[in-house]
Amino acid sequence: MFSRFLASLSIPLAASRAYLPGHVWQLSLVAGFAVQLLLILFVTLTGLDQLDATERHMQNVTEESMRKLELSKTMGFLARERTMNLFMVMHTADPFERDAIYLHFEQLANKFVGVRREFLKLPLTPTEHRLLEEQRRLSRIAVPYQEEAIALAMAGNKAGAGAILLDQAIPAQNAVLETLAELDGATHQSTQEAIREARSAHDSARLQMYALSGMALLIGIVVAVVVVRLIGRAGREREHMATHDALTGLPNRLLLMGRLEQAIARAQRQNLMIGVMFIDLDRFKLVNDTLGHAAGDELIRQVAARLSRIVRSDDIVARLGGDEFIVVVSDADKVGQIIHVVDKVVESIGQPYRIGDREFFTSASIGIGIYPHDGADTDDLLKNADTAMYHAKELGRNRYQLFDTEMNIKVAQRLELETDMRYGIERGEFRPYYQPQINLSTHRIQVVEVLMRWQHPTRGTLLPAIYLDLLEDTGCIVEVGRKLLREACRQCVSWQAAGQAGLAIAVNLSSKEFWQEDLCQTVAATLAETTLSPQSLHFELTESILMLDIDQAVDKIKELKRIGVRLAVDDFGTGYSSLAHLKHFPVDTLKIDRYFVKDIDRQSTDAAITQAILALSESLGLETVIEGVESMAQLNILHDIGCDIVQGFLFSEPVPGEAMSALFERDWAAEIAQDRPAGTA
Ligand code: C2E
Ligand code: CA
Ligand code: CA
Repeated sequence: MFSRFLASLSIPLAASRAYLPGHVWQLSLVAGFAVQLLLILFVTLTGLDQLDATERHMQNVTEESMRKLELSKTMGFLARERTMNLFMVMHTADPFERDAIYLHFEQLANKFVGVRREFLKLPLTPTEHRLLEEQRRLSRIAVPYQEEAIALAMAGNKAGAGAILLDQAIPAQNAVLETLAELDGATHQSTQEAIREARSAHDSARLQMYALSGMALLIGIVVAVVVVRLIGRAGREREHMATHDALTGLPNRLLLMGRLEQAIARAQRQNLMIGVMFIDLDRFKLVNDTLGHAAGDELIRQVAARLSRIVRSDDIVARLGGDEFIVVVSDADKVGQIIHVVDKVVESIGQPYRIGDREFFTSASIGIGIYPHDGADTDDLLKNADTAMYHAKELGRNRYQLFDTEMNIKVAQRLELETDMRYGIERGEFRPYYQPQINLSTHRIQVVEVLMRWQHPTRGTLLPAIYLDLLEDTGCIVEVGRKLLREACRQCVSWQAAGQAGLAIAVNLSSKEFWQEDLCQTVAATLAETTLSPQSLHFELTESILMLDIDQAVDKIKELKRIGVRLAVDDFGTGYSSLAHLKHFPVDTLKIDRYFVKDIDRQSTDAAITQAILALSESLGLETVIEGVESMAQLNILHDIGCDIVQGFLFSEPVPGEAMSALFERDWAAEIAQDRPAGTA
């Protein structure tokens, strides 16, 4: 809650700060902080002073009260003693002694008057004033009687004196004493009250003091926290300003260099590529000159926003100033990946801009430097990307140019290939070829692998190595793969009908195809449409596809298995720790990679590895296919190791469907036996 309160405080503060230059803002913060400290000090000191005053007041009141009580008691005491002396004057026979007592009697009166005067000087309540007045009135009545009685006694008239004493003087003196007693009571009460009041005033002063200093402390903490936060933010903002472009908020050259350096270090560790695009808007000066600088700024901002939207979070977009931007594509493993982003940049910059109520277009010239190809450090990469950009401008703007000329040619070729490919897909130039797998026990073609070929109108039959990446990168593989699957299924049904009962086809799936959400629906629909039975359809997947997301891959494989199709792990042995993961994948077949077969007749370790994989495969209940068998020498060794199924140029290259009938007709048993050394068949 407290922090929310702080946050609410800092918003209006931050808003107001927007109008102040940085140092003024900080100075006022510090000044505010100092004022706050002084305020706390002031409140604390005032509170303490107040407390001191009430304490002194309480002490005064107490002392005064004590004095008052003492005086009122003394008055009562003196009055009573005078009464006693009166009696003694009456009853003393010795005239000297009587004179002494009388003298004392008179002294008591003077003392009383003195004490009474003292008493009057003290702050008195109305009741006390009234009682003192009453006492004076009564004393004025009593004193003449006393003097008369004493005069009679002095004159020897003892009886007369006694009579006046008893009838007049004593009762009058008693009335005085009573009033004094009442005064004492009133004084007692008033002093009690005064002390109580003083104490409670002191107590409440103390409470106020606590509350005030508590509040001051709290405000102090709040202000301190706000100030610290604001200063921290100001620092961060200063840093942001030093590393970012004010107009677009993009990283500036300084930050770009740092990040690019990090990206290079990462790419070096992971053996990846980086694409550095130097982007310069075409004829930007014209925009500034004709539409004004505000419009130019707006255009720069919009371009910056578009570039930021295109790149991934790891990539960098920076502005070098003017109409120059840098986009860094990091962690690429193919040039094509970088060019893909370049295409997006070109496309995005070419979209119409709306500034005010005008719509207009612009374009950019882009130079590209690629790490590690065109430079190993930031300076070289930027310099070469810049050079390439000038080249792009020379060639007529609105285009991109790679620094490396050879790479430019490759990219141009790729662009051409992509155009051809899109036409080729429309015209059905991607055709299935077939390559048989031979079962060494039955000597029959058990499975036929479907391998695609592109019947290019001018370049002839193209192998997947040339165009498969492009198909995959553009996503076209999905459409092409579906068409091939349908055609291959239909082909298999017709071969089965022509006498190859039990024949199956093996279809390769790329990563994009495998991870298509509707893969299973497509497969089921194709099987239904072509009437091929599910167990006659095998899919071949490489381990790397499965390793992308093991859990999901297992789910997907199970879903395919439910349809009834069979699955093979292709290129087995070349991927990562495949053995460890193999047991998770419910596949039926392992296809051991060509790599192990290549030198199997020359390297005994290859034979040993192949044998070990075979044993593993068998223990997992899997079928094993060995691909890439090219010679009889290899086949003989594989035969000895105990291989079931083989595939390779030794038997046949991939051929068009029409050429398969001849392969079905061949007597494989005889052909293999003929070439085997005697005694090993
Ligand atoms: P793969 O699945 O490992 O296919 C085997 C490759 O080895 C084929 O190359 C085949 O022609 C070649 N090959 C067969 N026997 C031998 C031999 O004895 N020696 C040598 N040196 N090579 C042999 P191809 O047809 O060029 O295909 C290359 C790769 O392209 C395939 O590797 C597969 O991953 C992919 N591919 C081919 N057709 C398709 C397709 O229709 N869809 C998908 N997604 N990928 C395909
Ligand atoms: Ca394959
Ligand atoms: Ca393979």
